[in-house]
Amino acid sequence: MIEVEHLSVRFGDQVVLRDVSVRVAKGEVISVIGPSGTGKSTFLRCLNLLQRPTGGSVRVGGVDLLARGADVPRVRRRMGMVFQSFNLFAHLTALDNLTLGPVKLLGTPRPEAEKKAMETLRMVGLAEKAGSLPDELSGGQKQRVAIARCLAMEPEILLFDEPTSALDPTMVSEVLAVMRRLAREGMTMVVVTHEMEFARDVSSRVLYMDEGVVYEEGSPAQVFDAPRRDRTRAFVERRRSATFRVASPDYDLYALNASLEAFCDRHALPRQTRHDVVLLAEELLQIHAPLLPATPLDVVLAYSEKTDRLELAVESKGEAADPLDLARLPDELGLRIVRGLADGITYSSDAGRNRLSMTVRQA
Ligand code: ADP
Ligand code: MG
Repeated sequence: MIEVEHLSVRFGDQVVLRDVSVRVAKGEVISVIGPSGTGKSTFLRCLNLLQRPTGGSVRVGGVDLLARGADVPRVRRRMGMVFQSFNLFAHLTALDNLTLGPVKLLGTPRPEAEKKAMETLRMVGLAEKAGSLPDELSGGQKQRVAIARCLAMEPEILLFDEPTSALDPTMVSEVLAVMRRLAREGMTMVVVTHEMEFARDVSSRVLYMDEGVVYEEGSPAQVFDAPRRDRTRAFVERRRSATFRVASPDYDLYALNASLEAFCDRHALPRQTRHDVVLLAEELLQIHAPLLPATPLDVVLAYSEKTDRLELAVESKGEAADPLDLARLPDELGLRIVRGLADGITYSSDAGRNRLSMTVRQA
């Protein structure tokens, strides 16, 4: 139904989408997830040419939208789009918001349009509010009217751009419930969302976007439970990390400790953990000290909210050499302290990147 090939979008010097190729079949529900600023909205807007791509092609139902003379308005009518901010006509009642398009654009006679609009409002649970103005409705109700307004145009495809992000948390589920129902009834949908539970239960496929590309895609089980790539894993585990560079043996110990503590505080980790992280980092730097200043060291602290795992690593570039190799250590004390505070201590070296990582043991 939708075929996107080698899509790219640039704004001046900024490359927002690099090379995106995606196919969406009839009846599929695609969730698009990823950090903000990675081009998800831009991608969605390219599907109905609200955004004109810089390169590549977009075909909808076989029609090349970028071809000269393509009937873009007609293709657009086959696609409904639901925005974060509802975009309802403020001076029109819910019912009139629904009938406007069919009457003006499709030439549907008003009585027929009204009858259908009432059925659609009933479907989203809002028949009672047909005469209300948007201002008289809650956020969740407004968004359901916005979805109904799309449905009134009998679209073949619905595009959603973070439809629940502007809502009070108590109203998210009423909107998701309507979307679940549409998915069940076979509507083709592309949904940019931060609602991971929804993406997991409802989608046939999940696209993880990062840095202007589809970085990973797969079934919800694959993307959420067994992501193949690093950034995907960090995102689905809601892992946040911070890197601290140590470039000389005379590094500012107090500044480093303060930064490590600040990271722990930001993630509301217990005092004991905070203390252990500082001690661990100090021992690890001690162990790595012979590399300085020739090879700068990166101390990477990463915390996953979902798994409650706190990882500490020291990364360096250059020749592989296990820093825990006993023959190289001045004494064993540092290593014993490290083993006392961390589990899963692993050293790896790949393409000149050396990494000693561990899980900080938490009380
Ligand atoms: P996302 O939806 O993933 O948060 P967007 O697609 O909204 O990302 O934006 C991606 C990047 O493109 C952002 O850096 C944003 O500032 C930029 N961008 C989006 N639209 C425009 C525009 N019309 N002009 C210039 N820059 C834009
Ligand atoms: Mg967006």
